Amino acid sequence: MLRVDHHRFRSALAEIEASIDAAWNTFCAGSGVTPGTPEAQELAQIVLQDTSEFDWRVVDGALKQLTCTECGNGLGAGPLGCAACDLANGFRFAAQETDRPDAQSRNEHALRVSSAVARTRHRYTPQARTGYELALPCLLAGRMPTTPQAQRAKDRINQLSDDELDRLIDPRPLYGDV
Ligand SMILES: [Zn+2]
Repeated sequence: MLRVDHHRFRSALAEIEASIDAAWNTFCAGSGVTPGTPEAQELAQIVLQDTSEFDWRVVDGALKQLTCTECGNGLGAGPLGCAACDLANGFRFAAQETDRPDAQSRNEHALRVSSAVARTRHRYTPQARTGYELALPCLLAGRMPTTPQAQRAKDRINQLSDDELDRLIDPRPLYGDV
């Protein structure tokens, strides 16, 4: 079984998508705009003009409202090499990240990066996406791999083939208990 078909990955991804949609809907409500309307698309364009002003979930929510005029995919979610998507994807990473009260320090940063990788996984190598995707459920729960755990995971990832990497489902062989 591929990791993308396993419920562990799918439920983590669904939880992230729901949190992005919730953040976007709350932001729209606070701006007096109804989600899904042309006004909401205009609001999304405004957010992308300076993403450093906004929480990363609001920025990802804004990207979800827009279609790339060059490749036709969701903006920032097209293939690597689509100039407009590459640019929009860069904007994503200027956004704010505030640690949740019950999470470890820097958890929100790791969660944000892992979410971007898992949501647009075709933009990353099997090596890059395996480490982030396997850590995603643990990050959602507010925990973090330690630096030695992350280093060990990286070493093991480099010993596996692309196919083996996409079939990894359990994080423990890579990270140990996190
Ligand atoms: Zn594109």
